[in-house]
Amino acid sequence: MPINIAIDGPAGAGKSTIAKLVAKKKNLIYVDTGAMYRAIALYILRLGTDPEDAEAVARDCKGANVTIGYEDGVQIVYLNGENVNAYLRTEEVGNTASKTSANPAVRAQIFSLQQELAKENDCIMDGRDIGSVVLPNAKPKIYLTASSGVRAKRRYDELVAKGETPDFDRIRTDIEQRDYQDMHREISPLVKAEDATLIDSSDMSIDEVVDAICALV
Ligand code: C5P
Repeated sequence: MPINIAIDGPAGAGKSTIAKLVAKKKNLIYVDTGAMYRAIALYILRLGTDPEDAEAVARDCKGANVTIGYEDGVQIVYLNGENVNAYLRTEEVGNTASKTSANPAVRAQIFSLQQELAKENDCIMDGRDIGSVVLPNAKPKIYLTASSGVRAKRRYDELVAKGETPDFDRIRTDIEQRDYQDMHREISPLVKAEDATLIDSSDMSIDEVVDAICALV
């Protein structure tokens, strides 16, 4: 049986940073499931389909074939064969993904890809519904969170470091809106799985969170 670790939590909680470090320490692959939903959102944006139009999204997402590869341990997302990593981390794609990922047709498309990756690899997988729905037998399961103010500040600092001039209040509002959408959708809402360990990283350093998770592995 492969090692499967699930790490779920809201936007900006630091899941990917932490999961990558744990993956390195424990020799696992890191599976970023948000990137898969972002790839479908990118496809929908490129088509010009209205992300709020559930019927159109359910129809059009069928044209998006998302696959995953690894280069030097880095996850590459292919959308119909094109490496789209460079286009996935924008606010527009993230906000669109939060809308389109609520669509059952989109989730069905990504579900089997996630399960296959977990069946074939020792991995740490991050997302919103990994411990609750995708990998119910994952061990350990972590629910990583932080206050919305702390998460917005981290995102703000990241953008400043990239030379951008972001609006803090806008970032915080976007994060809170995404939390609301992700937690209140009908299918696979963001919840802490009953057997998940809650880690609130608001006042913890990255190393402290990594150590806490490694101690559970
Ligand atoms: O984690 P990330 O910000 O990249 O995720 C983008 C969006 O994809 C989330 O806001 C969420 O709506 C969706 N998502 C999801 N289930 C997952 C991972 C991400 O619904 N397992």
